[in-house]
Amino acid sequence: MSISGLHHITAIASNAKQNVDFYTRVLGLRMVKKTVNFDDPGTYHFYFGDESGTPGTIITFFPWPGAAKGRNGTGMATAVGYSVPEGSLPFWAARFKKLNIAQEEIAERFGEKYISFQDPDGLRIEFIVPSKKDERKPWETGEVNSSVAIKGFHSTTLSLRNIKPTEAILTDVFGYKLLSQENNRYRLRTEAVENAGIVDLLALPDRPPGYVAAGTNHHVAFRVKDEEVQMAIREKILAKGLNPTGKINRDYFYSVYFREPGGVLFELATENPGFTVDEPLNELGTHLKLPKQFEESRAQIERVLPVI
Ligand code: ZN
Repeated sequence: MSISGLHHITAIASNAKQNVDFYTRVLGLRMVKKTVNFDDPGTYHFYFGDESGTPGTIITFFPWPGAAKGRNGTGMATAVGYSVPEGSLPFWAARFKKLNIAQEEIAERFGEKYISFQDPDGLRIEFIVPSKKDERKPWETGEVNSSVAIKGFHSTTLSLRNIKPTEAILTDVFGYKLLSQENNRYRLRTEAVENAGIVDLLALPDRPPGYVAAGTNHHVAFRVKDEEVQMAIREKILAKGLNPTGKINRDYFYSVYFREPGGVLFELATENPGFTVDEPLNELGTHLKLPKQFEESRAQIERVLPVI
């Protein structure tokens, strides 16, 4: 009855084609679903992950054409941490250099080497070599083979003015434990799952709130086995005096959203039914999939969506 690490991370992009090219060609992820924002069907919703879109590997985007640039700050997730194989960082540094991608020098944190870089909208991504071997099987492409490919999430970083209320949700409700601290960074982990079980809290008491637009995070979704676990955790969230939504059907999972006290939008997303519910595994991401309430407007929606 606990959270099983991260499910997906959702961010905002400004250009659909540029977003697809970066995550599939440059980073070598698989596009596992091409659909629309269920609350705004004139906007795409892209999902990128491993072969089947396993929870804990999925990054999703709402590309808003011409969206203003957002600003990182407190009350939001400010970095997406991916797990990559031992020895792969020089490959990535050389690849980013060749492609003129903004990056920082390889560094080390909590005894793990990592490289930070930005996607075309300025979203901060970190490739981290985990101290514990990651056995997940990555998606491979012609340019990104399994010796360097992304295995899935390592962690996310939440920037907060005061970490205490957020830490309390993660420990009391989600089952995370404080693992260690380096400077103003506090590392929490759940042992309910092998990978994607880390959340770093960055204490920035003087930093103003962020502004959610292109290049920033929209929400962080945590993984629950099924709706039964989801509803049990929802009760605990209510008992904390917070205000979760009811269960919402997102076709590929069921969702409950709530704003945690530090200001970050959290989601609880189920493992079921998954991305093969409306496309076979070998065709994932190749068709524009619409939820049934929008199927009758397909022609109109397809006319509005940018060509990718
Ligand atoms: Zn979500």
